[in-house]
Amino acid sequence: MTDMSIARLRNAYSSERTRPLTWRRAQLDALRRMVTENREDFVAAVAADLGKPAAETVLMELNLVADESRFVRNRLGRWTARQPKPMPLALQPAAGWTVAEPKGVVLVIAPWNYPVLLALAPLADAIAAGNAVCLKPSELAPNSARLLSELVPQYLDHEAICVVEGGPKETGELLRQPFDHIFYTGGERVGRIVMKAAAEHVTPVTLELGGKSPCYVDRTADINVAARRIVWGKFTNAGQTCVAPDYVLATPDVAEALARRIAVAITEFFGENPQDSRDYGRIINDRHMERLIGLLPDGTVPPETPSSPLVVAASAVGAAMDMVGRRINAGVAAANRSGGNVAEVVSALASGTAPKADETSAADVSGGVTPQETAMNADAVSEPIDEEPAAGILQVPGVTDSAGRVVCGGKVNRDARYIAPTVLYGTRPDAAVMKEEIFGPILPILVVRDADAAIRFINSRPKPLAAYVFSRDHAVRLAFERRTSSGALGFNLPLGHLLSSRLPFGGVGLSGMGAYHGKAGFDTFSHIKTVVVKPQFPDTLRAVYPPFTEAKQRL
Ligand code: NAD
Repeated sequence: MTDMSIARLRNAYSSERTRPLTWRRAQLDALRRMVTENREDFVAAVAADLGKPAAETVLMELNLVADESRFVRNRLGRWTARQPKPMPLALQPAAGWTVAEPKGVVLVIAPWNYPVLLALAPLADAIAAGNAVCLKPSELAPNSARLLSELVPQYLDHEAICVVEGGPKETGELLRQPFDHIFYTGGERVGRIVMKAAAEHVTPVTLELGGKSPCYVDRTADINVAARRIVWGKFTNAGQTCVAPDYVLATPDVAEALARRIAVAITEFFGENPQDSRDYGRIINDRHMERLIGLLPDGTVPPETPSSPLVVAASAVGAAMDMVGRRINAGVAAANRSGGNVAEVVSALASGTAPKADETSAADVSGGVTPQETAMNADAVSEPIDEEPAAGILQVPGVTDSAGRVVCGGKVNRDARYIAPTVLYGTRPDAAVMKEEIFGPILPILVVRDADAAIRFINSRPKPLAAYVFSRDHAVRLAFERRTSSGALGFNLPLGHLLSSRLPFGGVGLSGMGAYHGKAGFDTFSHIKTVVVKPQFPDTLRAVYPPFTEAKQRL
């Protein structure tokens, strides 16, 4: 099946139907129509896969696909025109130019987290460059994958563009085929598999990978704005965004206040109980749920139900009774509580009047922790001690778990694949949450001595896909620009660079290779061919032909 699909694409490409600009423009127009005319279906499919809010799907996926299609469509004439280049004097008379030609038949492998955008934006760029395209959506977002495989043949030229559904097995089969370019978005582990497979055919690859994107904040920043933007960047799509701020590095003079404001911004955005918010997403699957729960401080969430059938049955009864008990307890706790509002708790903590957390409220319905329990002790964190000179990360007194202390969130509901927006304070560099890309709604805040220490900390780790800096200090910003390496750098703005077709988007080092969006995408899927021409008469090259007489050697 796969072989036949690819053979059909190869025939279509060989027939030259994908080369004319009329074909490319028609496909790009159709792609834009596809996402606008089927907006509701896309919203429903992405919601079924990820619980993604409708507005998020429209703004962060469908509109971006439409924008990218329009952007590249309207510039095709210019990008495909010959680009004249001057020729050296010794070759004159002569002319030279470059011209973009399609690579041929290309493979686009997409991930699940933005299942429409990350499939269709590279598709738009590949079409713009005049390629035949095989699109492989992620099996982990099955509703979106199914919709794409239904709609793409309806709207686009099915001889030259196909969708192949499937997981690792089907992708493995595809990777055995000789493509002319492979564009992969996803994790580093599979990135290596893709690159190895590509090496068999010496196929060029673009790898759009991930990594831990740091976010530095110092006292010159407007903390309210920083908090809101960090919350937006981090908790959009429940943290499952490749360029989300993975962790915060905050200087000691601002860290504590920032943590509080972030908690407040979370409440502003998603309410007291984000599980009830229609603006907050869900975790893609159970495997990622358990992975993320494992990153929280010990004891934040009860362990998973054992999997043996007997134990499952027994524990299901137990869990049901437990749930009833917890609901009663939670009801009692809620009635007893003097205030569950994060803002109130924070201000109460600051004034020293915060109620003490009790055992009952700790066992809340979702098995998580309450804001009272988890809001940090404002006094205790104000003077960090025990400096770790090598990394410049400061230890926060009273924080015993290396993952940090839960400032807000920490609640989970496995059945709903819900993890509350969670902020950890005083996280240590050796914590599990700092060892892998989080890719979920957990935000560790590390206290860092200063900008220099932050830069050295970032430089001691793999190059991230993005780095963010909230600072009004010009020297600090310049230092980050000059001394750190990342796919992109955002001053006071997470995610912003991904929203423009004018800016290349891609990683560096372990966060990937190559780039796309707009012209960068067109170039990725093109071969830039050099062309030279020299008149045959007069044959001025005679000056360099052998035999190399003494006169010629003096030239
Ligand atoms: P995923 O599991 O959906 O995998 C991506 C693709 O690889 C899928 O199409 C899948 O079918 C395929 N695949 C999975 N296992 C395979 C195997 N063994 N052999 C061949 N193909 C296989 O996505 P993921 O890896 O969980 O995605 C999350 C990662 O992607 C994160 O690290 C994130 O940062 C990164 N990401 C990067 C970008 C970017 O633009 N740079 C965007 C989104 C996600």
